[in-house]
Amino acid sequence: MRTAACPICKKTIRFERLSDQPFFPFCSERCKLVDLGRWIDGSYTISRELNEEELEMVEELIEEQVRRMEESEYDRSED
Ligand SMILES: [Zn+2]
Repeated sequence: MRTAACPICKKTIRFERLSDQPFFPFCSERCKLVDLGRWIDGSYTISRELNEEELEMVEELIEEQVRRMEESEYDRSED
């Protein structure tokens, strides 16, 4: 069993293989989204500004992630 700390919430992630952790290096899709959001906010250093096309791509990616997150939460509520 290997461990790593989620860079967002610092929670310990335990896994045997990377394939067990689809959101690696994050503990969850939520933290992955937070990271993406920070990156867009400019909290992270970006070597150049994103052009309009790239921004749209990132926005679409976030929308898709949020949609999937909502769907997975719905799935869990059925357990
Ligand atoms: Zn996390």
